[in-house]
Amino acid sequence: MNQRLQAFQQWLQEQHISFAIITSTPNVFYLSGFYSDPHERLLALVVFPNEEPILVCPQMEAGQAKRSGWHYSLIGYSDIENPWELISEHVTKRQPAADRIAVEKTHLSLERYEQLCTYFSARSTINAEEKLRELRMMKDEQEVSILRQAAALADLGVEVGVKAIAEGKTELEIIAAIEYELKKQGVREMSFATMVLTGQKTADPHGTPGLAAIQKGDFVLFDLGVVLDGYCSDITRTVVFGKPSDEQKRIYETVLKAQLAAIAASKPGAAAGTVDQAARQIIEQAGYGSYFTHRVGHGLGIEIHEYPSMNATNAMALEQGMVFTIEPGIYVPSIGGVRIEDDVLITNDGVEILTSYPKELITL
Ligand code: MN
Ligand code: MN
Repeated sequence: MNQRLQAFQQWLQEQHISFAIITSTPNVFYLSGFYSDPHERLLALVVFPNEEPILVCPQMEAGQAKRSGWHYSLIGYSDIENPWELISEHVTKRQPAADRIAVEKTHLSLERYEQLCTYFSARSTINAEEKLRELRMMKDEQEVSILRQAAALADLGVEVGVKAIAEGKTELEIIAAIEYELKKQGVREMSFATMVLTGQKTADPHGTPGLAAIQKGDFVLFDLGVVLDGYCSDITRTVVFGKPSDEQKRIYETVLKAQLAAIAASKPGAAAGTVDQAARQIIEQAGYGSYFTHRVGHGLGIEIHEYPSMNATNAMALEQGMVFTIEPGIYVPSIGGVRIEDDVLITNDGVEILTSYPKELITL
């Protein structure tokens, strides 16, 4: 049994749980190695404290599940079968009296919960999400290696985007150039909708790209990432098209200083919150405190937002193997916004920065 399943089983034993039924794509992938988005159909991994797990998926995906390396029980169900009935048959053989069932409470729909209640007479459901977040937070060698490659592809995306900048080009044209190149490199999927924003639109941290055309003097902000072998990258760079104004320069230099301070604060044993505080202090001292409207970063892995949350009040101690983003920003509505984002890995004595596109102010 793989280490991840073993660690999860140990938790099931400690918590006296009869079995866990895991149904979210990221957690099923983390525990089984099988990545599948079954849309409205049920994907489920049933994990027992002391017995071999069962993977349940639509019949048409059973071949892929086997090829993914899954070598325990596999139940493929057709579109005219009720998967809950099949699960109940198989689980009852192994656990006739299930009274504590672990589920993902923010993921399991009410409809599925009702199916679970119909087929099992459990007295209580336990939330497995916190435990799975903790396990996924510590990346192993193989995960780190994939994350490094995903970060390099994000660097390439920014490089292509910066080269594509020209007067009159629209945000969406530049996005098309970035994604065309990445697809040629074998990237099937971006980790979120690629963001290229220009001018005052950069003042909206989660702005929507459109047909806005680049003009002289604009900030151009890129925020993008790829999914590689199930893992996400996430990078932001901001450049100026033309000659930057003094205030644009001041904003940029402040964000860069804040980002470097946050990187310097990232080391094993430091509380996650101190990383946010390091960046925020610099931005506040420069007088832009009220324009830094979000946490300094987020954990990164199978999902784009994972643990640890890099917010000012998180007391969790950073540990070797954690991967997260550091992305302070200043967003001034009348001028525009700057954000600089890297992906970092906590090492035994500090950080390794996974993304490497240059950060000094680029003017074009
Ligand atoms: Mn980002
Ligand atoms: Mn991010």
